[in-house]
Amino acid sequence: MILLDGKSVSRKRNLELKTKIEKAITTYKRAPKLAIILVGDNPASLSYVKGKKKACELVGIINEMYHLPANISENELKSLIEKLNDDESVDGILLQLPIPDHLNDDLLIDLISKDKDADGFHVVNQGYLYQKKKTIYPATPKGIMTLLRTYNIDVLGMNAVIIGRSNIVGFPVARLLMDQGATITVCHSKTKDVGFHTRNADIIVVAAGRPHMLKKDMVKDGAIVIDVGVNRVDGKLIGDADFDDLKDKCSFLTPVPGGVGPMTIHSLLENTFELYMNHVTK
Ligand code: NAP
Repeated sequence: MILLDGKSVSRKRNLELKTKIEKAITTYKRAPKLAIILVGDNPASLSYVKGKKKACELVGIINEMYHLPANISENELKSLIEKLNDDESVDGILLQLPIPDHLNDDLLIDLISKDKDADGFHVVNQGYLYQKKKTIYPATPKGIMTLLRTYNIDVLGMNAVIIGRSNIVGFPVARLLMDQGATITVCHSKTKDVGFHTRNADIIVVAAGRPHMLKKDMVKDGAIVIDVGVNRVDGKLIGDADFDDLKDKCSFLTPVPGGVGPMTIHSLLENTFELYMNHVTK
């Protein structure tokens, strides 16, 4: 089994991005800037945001943090997003999800200017994606495609099974894999027998948020498994794929942590740089 080492791939690519950003700063006389909005004190979100801030610092992206109380009103949050939309020094805006239930995440995400949509979640950018047009791609699906490319995995003609159909992971991954010539099956919580589909898959992307749901009796010999899941169990981070159970059966497998997670952060940095380049070259 070959480990799809997102940690080392992202580290190398972050250094390349850093060089590009240094050159761009010399040319355009300002650094890219990402505004990060965090609502409340969800420990997982705090840790994700910390990782994103650190990565920004490493590559030379200015990051401006807005840490807001969990009981903030929707109107207050809307005002902040509108202010950041109007601020010409801000290239990208990220609203860390999940946000508390009294706030409408779809509405707030779509309020972020599509030209500052660092996460690629805006309805217009997702529309471009589904029409195969150039746009800002959602960070996790983009990171997965970069990882596959880095390991020269060509999905053309492969049977791909995606477990999960969320707007931020499962569904866009399905679209991107289909664009690369894979034949797609998308499983979700109403799928009668997930294993029936995965046993015939050349590549499986599991993004369900169900700890260790993917076991070796659900995959064929030589399958490629991309584990997006991040679950905290007994204080440990584990994926949706049972790594130890699968490792002798797969041809390629991502670890958790150290697989898709760092590639997601790398894609966020790439997206922010792309938005910055769009702004400074307008
Ligand atoms: P989500 O919005 O909760 O979506 C989960 C999807 O999985 C849904 O489509 C759901 O089906 C499906 N599902 C749930 N249980 C299932 C089961 N037993 N069998 C088949 N399908 C099932 O979650 P998400 O935001 O896409 O995230 C998925 C996982 O990836 C989470 O663990 C999250 O923490 C992780 N994640 C990791 C990264 C990273 O960078 N590594 C980034 C984003 C997310 P229904 O649609 O029918 O409900």
